[in-house]
Amino acid sequence: MTEPLKTLILGSGPAGYTAAIYAARANLAPVLLTGRQPGGQLTITSEVENYPGFPEGVMGPEMMEKFRHQAARFGTQVLDEVGVAVDLKQRPFTVTSESGTVWKTQTLIVSTGASALYLGLPNEKALQGRGVSACATCDGFFFKNKVVYVVGGGDSACEEANFLTKYASKVFLVVRRDALRASKIMQDRALKNPKVEVLWNSNVTDVLDVSKGKVTGVELTGTLDGKKKQVPADGLFLAIGHQPNTQLFKGLLTMDDKGYIKTVPGKTATNIEGVFAAGDCQDSYYRQAVTAAGSGCMAAIEVERFLEGQGGH
Ligand code: NDP
Repeated sequence: MTEPLKTLILGSGPAGYTAAIYAARANLAPVLLTGRQPGGQLTITSEVENYPGFPEGVMGPEMMEKFRHQAARFGTQVLDEVGVAVDLKQRPFTVTSESGTVWKTQTLIVSTGASALYLGLPNEKALQGRGVSACATCDGFFFKNKVVYVVGGGDSACEEANFLTKYASKVFLVVRRDALRASKIMQDRALKNPKVEVLWNSNVTDVLDVSKGKVTGVELTGTLDGKKKQVPADGLFLAIGHQPNTQLFKGLLTMDDKGYIKTVPGKTATNIEGVFAAGDCQDSYYRQAVTAAGSGCMAAIEVERFLEGQGGH
């Protein structure tokens, strides 16, 4: 039987790759399974302006390629595989990937990130890729001179609304309250953009028209008066937040009521010795690339110390 790995990392966002860089440089010969979206959420964002070290900004996908390259440079085995089953009852832990490979590992770093939330409307999924999207950067190009609706009032919604004005003739930002949650700078950009119109106190309550196989309109409902109206639309973009990708660990790792993995305060250690969680799968508060990278670094250092405590590595 082959020796178990010292550490296996699940996920390839800033947390996973940073953990890999540190673990590899500590001679832990990490294996990193990228998951279904190699590079994570930053591969579906546009320009990253707030990651230190890139004063002119950097495109998300390019940044994640650099992360991957840096992790591989120090010997991380980066595999485009998806973990589908875990057994954490005893060490070494077992992780099975979609291809059927079974990994034994002394420690596990969970950095599986988070994914965009959808509204849960009956027609939303049916029209996904046919006008409904949660990623303006990926799909904005298809909306040249079209009318699109963006739902949400956070930084993502403002950013997406602005980005979409590069292509769309008109962008409506549908906000369920009478205020935006976004930071001041992002609010200003959206509110000052002549192509963006904010619809306050409104919800999108239906997407039309499944029978035509594409988005032709949306139903808006006033959150104060309950009044409904149908308006023509070519696209619907959702920017209403995220949910952690932690389904694999339900019932195994302690989580909060939204499914974020709970870690020891100030650490990445979870309720299971030898399992560490970093990045957005355990952080519902900061959710930034730089904080995710920081917690990935913490996880690798904790793994190293844990293995030392187990008799060296
Ligand atoms: P947020 O959780 O910050 O905002 C979600 C928004 O969606 C809120 O306005 C919320 O409304 C609204 N919303 C939630 N559920 C619904 C619903 N069912 N129907 C209608 N509206 C809904 O998520 P973001 O993705 O915007 O941001 C996440 C984090 O990432 C934040 O920390 C943000 O600062 C950061 N970020 C930073 C960027 C940057 O600096 N360039 C870019 C993008 C994100 P309500 O306000 O009423 O709760």
